[in-house]
Amino acid sequence: MRIRILGCSGGIGAGVRTSAMLIDDDVLIDAGTGIGDLELADIDSIRHVFLTHSHLDHVAGLPMLVDRVFDENFAVPLTVYAREETLRAVQDHLFNDVIWPDFSNLPTPQNPMLQYRVCSPGDSIDIAGRRFGAVEVQHTVPSLGFTVQNSQSAFAVSGDTKRNETLWPALNACDDLRVLVIEVSFPDEQQDLAVEAGHYTPTTLLADLQQLRHEPQIWLTGMKPGEEETILDQVRRASPDRDFHMLSRGTVLTV
Ligand SMILES: [Zn+2]
Repeated sequence: MRIRILGCSGGIGAGVRTSAMLIDDDVLIDAGTGIGDLELADIDSIRHVFLTHSHLDHVAGLPMLVDRVFDENFAVPLTVYAREETLRAVQDHLFNDVIWPDFSNLPTPQNPMLQYRVCSPGDSIDIAGRRFGAVEVQHTVPSLGFTVQNSQSAFAVSGDTKRNETLWPALNACDDLRVLVIEVSFPDEQQDLAVEAGHYTPTTLLADLQQLRHEPQIWLTGMKPGEEETILDQVRRASPDRDFHMLSRGTVLTV
């Protein structure tokens, strides 16, 4: 399984893109501005999009993606998987025939090229030898993390979250967790803001990480632009024995 990071920043700026990762060539987890750098042929291969939550940095590219893959002769519809609340937000606020066309009714309501599938915490969805498991996390809106397991090993992505009791047991239940992509948006100096905004800081992440029984590579994501080095330094100092890396646009992970 190949995981290509298209964007992993918590904001915009020259050279950075917001959250999106491509699994092999057909599945996206989140559809932030990072998908705008894909070649057209790569975009056309995408048929599944898992959304962690409804915030704009995770869905901003979705309307353009759907528009790109729209083809009246499509063979396989594009399926968006997310919590019920997330799907409702996307339908009501993006694909509402005001901001963007309602592609779930096009080209015809009977045979739409965009379809929604509710994915609740605890659900798992199998796509071509990969099992996507939805995990409850704690953010300011209903949110999910995902585990992705193939026949050999697993990786996981937290989505946006603050301290929680649900992600860690789900990770411990994975067979051979090789890679964990986890958010840590703010440095310790902004602890109060992080709690209010539903995000980890190095201190809160390290406190929760003590529950993890596996020892995967840990890739940090979602950092506010300009805070990346500070956050990585704080994380490494707090836990020198763990294997931490900073995710960046273009990183390719293999599990
Ligand atoms: Zn968010």
